Order: sequence, then structure tokens, then C-alpha cells
Amino acid sequence: MEEFNNIINGKKVQSGATFGVVNPANGNVFAHCQIADIPMVDRAVAAARAAFPAWSKTSHDERKEKIHALGDALEANMPDLMALVTAETGKPMAGLNGVGSGMEVGGSMAWTHYTADLDLPVDIVQDDDVASVRVFRKPLGVVASITPWNWPLMIAIWHVIPALRAGNTVVIKPSPLAPLAIIRFVEMANQILPPGVLNVITGDASIGAALSEHSDVDKIVFTGSTPTGRNIMQAASTNLKRLTLELGGNDAGIILDDVDVKDIAPKLFAAAFHNNGQTCACLKRLYVHESIYEELCQELAHLAKAVVVGDGMDDGVELGPVQNKAQMAIVMELAEDARANGGRFIAGGHAIPGNGFFFAPTIVADLEDGARLVDEEQFGPIVPVIRYSNIEAIIERANQNDNGLGGSVWSRDVAKATALAQQLECGTAWVNDHGAVQPDAPFGGIKQSGFGVEFGSYGLEEYTSIQTVKITKT
Ligand code: NAD
Repeated sequence: MEEFNNIINGKKVQSGATFGVVNPANGNVFAHCQIADIPMVDRAVAAARAAFPAWSKTSHDERKEKIHALGDALEANMPDLMALVTAETGKPMAGLNGVGSGMEVGGSMAWTHYTADLDLPVDIVQDDDVASVRVFRKPLGVVASITPWNWPLMIAIWHVIPALRAGNTVVIKPSPLAPLAIIRFVEMANQILPPGVLNVITGDASIGAALSEHSDVDKIVFTGSTPTGRNIMQAASTNLKRLTLELGGNDAGIILDDVDVKDIAPKLFAAAFHNNGQTCACLKRLYVHESIYEELCQELAHLAKAVVVGDGMDDGVELGPVQNKAQMAIVMELAEDARANGGRFIAGGHAIPGNGFFFAPTIVADLEDGARLVDEEQFGPIVPVIRYSNIEAIIERANQNDNGLGGSVWSRDVAKATALAQQLECGTAWVNDHGAVQPDAPFGGIKQSGFGVEFGSYGLEEYTSIQTVKITKT
């Protein structure tokens, strides 16, 4: 069985203790990973610190070239990386609406190349006979990246690439539930980057906590759950680390009464169920006008019953398993609660027997705000469809949630939908679409979905501090 290592200062490092990585499609351990210990956290941060002065002084052109080389390495290793992502997450190679390991690795390549070419221009605030005032963007130092299991490689790329591009060095701690594609990427990257610029250490919450507290880490970029985000924020206060927190979501989709139900049902279904609902910006609550409620429910139920669920390695599979047992337990608990509180299950509602963590794609009608499945993030293949009658009041209902990641409004009347979408309390509002992200548009949450943004120039700037240089001339 293959063993994966920590990588510090360009070298594989072993603690002697390992953990198994499980394939959620069959419940079997298929690889082992070395667990980092606390001294290794110190060694990794020290390696990143030692590499920082030289890396931060490389020219923009040199860093662009190296980061494009990382994108090329991802491409050259695409089949291997796709197989690792599918084995460790369960997501299909292709998947529903093309969302699978191919998209994860392809997206990683696209983000890498796009971000490589971004610039951090000097802002000239004043330049006259009296003074010159220029604003520079400088790298922060050592960035710690802590990642979740749902899009392991893609999210790592979203963290690591802008951090490196801005001139920082990085220690990444992947989720122990899906660390393998990231470790493989860091191995490749260390053929391209100087030693110490990108390090990986694996382990559970204790390793993440040690990084979050570490006095020589300058910034943490974290993607994961809101409770963990709170812990990290507290730990980061010791030395006032910069933070980007991309936390949970409970995105609402508001469906107005004028839509073409048959046309939008597959789009809504894909936005809710791609990656088995395990994407931060999946549609997680659907508010549907009463005039089309029953028709849309039936279309969604039909799609849920027809979608192909199975081992992501098999051709034609659209949805894989839930990624881990604990997440499966949350999904089952929310289903039970919905059933006990009057939810009408019009598709699914049960685990699929076998050794894998499979749950039948589930549509629950007739729930109201206040039910746990509506109010809480389910992060799995079960979606509540809520009836409404009053368009004026619906935005307020959707906004009555602690999360504020994304939201969408669906209508033939684009102007009306856009005006409503702008009233949603969320970082990204989509019209007649949901969850689509791109490397040049900022993405991030408000409220308890976190703060800070990723992607594009806005995202790159989060890996810098500002230095204003004033030259007085008179
Ligand atoms: P999680 O919070 O359980 O774990 C994420 C990472 O944090 C893991 O690497 C874990 O080991 C580490 N960790 C746990 N406790 C820690 C601590 N005290 N200190 C430091 N690190 C610690 O999240 P998860 O279950 O892996 O991911 C699912 C969650 O991530 C969902 O809520 C989802 O919405 C969210 N998510 C958000 C986005 C976004 O962009 N906003 C994207 C993907 C996932």
C-alpha cells in the first residue's frame, strides 16, 4: 500500500506514525500517510521562514515563470491526480454536470495559470513638486493554509498559488480525510520551487491548532467549517495573524413564479447536488413560489431518482458517496429530523446498503424555516424545497440565516431578479445560475461564512501588506 509523507524543506519527513486514508466508495483504507507531530510543525514553519527572504526577493517575472511551471506539472500529472482525488473523496472522474475530479484538476490548472499572470501594481497617490506618495504591496511572510476534504486539491491551489505569487512561503495542512492529491502536488512543486518555499504537514485538528497558534506564522488562510474558523480566529490572535476565513454556507435559491420549470429544474438540481451537495456554495435551500411549487418538486424528484450514483471510478457515475462516515451521520440525522417535523420525502431519504457511504439523493418538500434541514448546512445529498407566496417577504426570509456565502434568484425577468439578488446578504449573488466561480472574480463570505476574499487581484492582495512610501520634496 502506498505511503505518503510530510515534506519539509524539500525533503520527505517521517514521524514513524501513520494514519489510513479511506476510499468512501467502499470503506477500505487504500493508502497510508505519515502523521506530523508538534516538533514537525516547528520545523515546517522554520523552513518556510528561512526560505522567505530569498523567495520574497525574486522578481515578479521569476515567480510568474515558476508558477506557470506548477500549472504545467499539474497538467502533466492530471490522470494520477484525478485518480487520487476520486479515491480519497469519492467524487466521480466526470460527474454530474461535468463536476468531478477532471474539473478539480483542470480547474486547479486554470487557476494556477491565471493567478501566475496577476500583478501587484504600485499605486501612485501623489506625484508632484511637493511629494511623491506611493503604495506598495509587500508579501506577509509565512502563510499557513488549512484545507477541508471536499475539494482538496482545488482549495489548496486557491490558497497556495496566490500566496506564492505574492512572494510568501507556505506550510499547508490538508484535511486528514483527503490529503493525498495535495501531498502529490507538493512533491511535484518541490521539483520546481526552492526548498522550504512550500511545505506540507499532515494531521488532525491538533496540528491545525499548533499552526494557528504558531508565533512565526504571519497569516492563516482557512477553508472549512464555521466552528473551526472560530477556533482558528481565537488562536490567531496571539500574534495578530492576518486571516482569510472561507467557512460554511447555507445558500438559498429563490425561484420566482415566471420560470420555465422544465428548463430550470436540471440547473437547480445540478447546483444543489453536484459533488453530492458537498460544496460550500451548493444550493442548500430552495424557496419556490406556490404557483409552480408542486410541478418543480416533481421535476426535482424525477431527476433525483434518475441520477446515477456509484463508485466514482466507474464510467457514467454522476454522484459518488458522501465523503466520510461523520458527514454521513450528519446527513442521516438531518433526514430523521426532517421526517419527524413533517417533511414530505419525494425522492430518496435513506442510506444505500453496502460498505460505502452512499445516501440516496433526497428531496424534502413541505418544510418551513426553523426546521434543522432548512436552517443548518447539510453538506450532503439532501435538499429542502420550501413553499412561499409573498415575493416581497421572501428575501427577508432567506436572509434570516447566520450564513452569508452565496445566494441566487431565478426568473425570466432578469432586471427584477437582479434587483432582488442584490438584496441578498451574501458574498456572491447569482441570477439564473448558482455556484459558478471563476479565477478573476472575487469570492468569499459575509456574516458567519467568514471574511476576506479569494481569486483575482482582490484575492491576491489578501496575501500582502501595504507599505506607503512618502518622499517629501520641499
Ligand atoms: P473542518 O472545519 O472540520 O476541517 C477543516 C480543516 O481544519 C481540516 O484540515 C481540519 O483538520 C482542520 N482543523 C480542525 N480543527 C482545527 C482547529 N481547532 N484548528 C486548526 N485547524 C483545525 O471542515 P471540513 O469538514 O473539512 O469541511 C467542510 C466545511 O467546509 C463545510 O462547512 C463547508 O461549507 C466548508 N467549506 C467552505 C468553503 C468556502 O469557500 N467558504 C469551501 C469548501 C468547504
